[in-house]
Amino acid sequence: MSVRVRFAPSPTGYLHVGGARTALFNWLYARRHGGTFVLRIEDTDMERSSEDMVTGILESLTWLGLSWDEGPEVGGPHAPYFQAARADRHRAAARRLVDAGSAYYCYCRPEELQAKRQAAEAAGGAWMYDGTCRTLSAADVDRRHAAGESRAVRVKVPAGETSFDDLVHGRITVPHATIDDFIIVRSDGTPTYQLSVVSDDIDMAITHVVRGDDHISNTPKQILLYQALGAPVPAFAHVPLILGPDKKRLSKRHGATAVGEYERQGFLPEAMVNFLALLGWSPGRGDEEIFPRDALVGLFTIEGISGGNAVFNPEKLEWFNQQHIMRLPAGDLLGRIQPGLVDAGLWDAAFDGPRHAWIERVVDLLKPRAKRLTDFVPQMRPFIVASVDRDPSAVAKYLADPAIRSHLADWRDELASIAPFDAAAIETALRARADRLAIKPAALIHATRVAVTGSAASPGIFDVLELDGRDRVLARIDDALRAMDPAVRS
Ligand code: GLU
Repeated sequence: MSVRVRFAPSPTGYLHVGGARTALFNWLYARRHGGTFVLRIEDTDMERSSEDMVTGILESLTWLGLSWDEGPEVGGPHAPYFQAARADRHRAAARRLVDAGSAYYCYCRPEELQAKRQAAEAAGGAWMYDGTCRTLSAADVDRRHAAGESRAVRVKVPAGETSFDDLVHGRITVPHATIDDFIIVRSDGTPTYQLSVVSDDIDMAITHVVRGDDHISNTPKQILLYQALGAPVPAFAHVPLILGPDKKRLSKRHGATAVGEYERQGFLPEAMVNFLALLGWSPGRGDEEIFPRDALVGLFTIEGISGGNAVFNPEKLEWFNQQHIMRLPAGDLLGRIQPGLVDAGLWDAAFDGPRHAWIERVVDLLKPRAKRLTDFVPQMRPFIVASVDRDPSAVAKYLADPAIRSHLADWRDELASIAPFDAAAIETALRARADRLAIKPAALIHATRVAVTGSAASPGIFDVLELDGRDRVLARIDDALRAMDPAVRS
């Protein structure tokens, strides 16, 4: 039997990290077993669903690299993959259930049900549908139908209990006494979630339902529907919730929850996938944490999903991001940074041509310091622009002393002749000079850094100087000295 799994988001919001992790687990399982990953959009809540949300969900899944084999845009043998468009099939399934005696028409009016509910609650009990219409005769049903009375369809829940072996939580048993005759088609003719999801999962031949814990209580009802419809019951795996660092359910209070927001903040999809995969799943590789996508596919098992809730730690995500940035070749990174450079007006066509190797070296130099893709553009700026603005506090700290400015002026003259103009030669010369002057090398290093980059922080200054090249370094130091010259300033 080939594995068929699905991700079935309701397009009532963006794809959030919890949904993304559910999608990821399904995707990993499908890829691990050479199965099929189906994407079905459950757009039955017409008021809260929107096309924009559908587009956003598809974009986020695509960004994460969770390609679907059947679903919107790609189609497939079980189209349509939008649930609302399948309502006729759901209603047909309900009719089959009524015909088979597993479901019945219910003519109870909302106000009657409401009154009964209130009475039960006033008496301190929980209300369950009392089965008023369960025993209507066929003649009564026909008569009321002919009279145009609106009616819902309810499942005739049999006596007994339902058990299933959840692949995450183990065996779960629910006595039917706790399940009332639930509605599968409302009196306005719209199918309910319970029916739609089962009908679609049957039609789409889903073998494993991997979804959030919040659906656990729906599962016994859905199993009853599979059985009543004579369909094989899929395996179920309910994935625990994601909590914030305060152990409360993850929400906007904890920061960004939408996947798209992480993309905008400069996270790599590789990092997000790695991080989400380990949120409640253990690959069983000890302390190893960094896994490329292919490795995750190779290792994924549903049994490795923990039954306990997982904690979303944004700092950990940033760490994963840093680790994955470190592992990307400069050329690949540059492709991802390019749109940001273009937006900032820093892209030069020569970066695609004669200056390609140079710009890649800049990326490589900045890589170990970058936590997010968005860190690159501001840090690349001083390498690219003609002249820098200097941070006044850095200037005050490292260039204010006239003695250091005079040392910097002499050092500038030495830089004019150092050959080759590379990091090693520059470093040797600077340290020898500091020795001769009996000053700390750091004093000259800081002064040079502020003069050349404008900032008190940069990657290793000798590498920076080499990459900037002699002409630019001399011009920047000249500019800094001129700006600091009292005669110029007054
Ligand atoms: N559409 C449902 C949701 O977004 C998922 C249904 C399911 O996975 O069974 O919560």
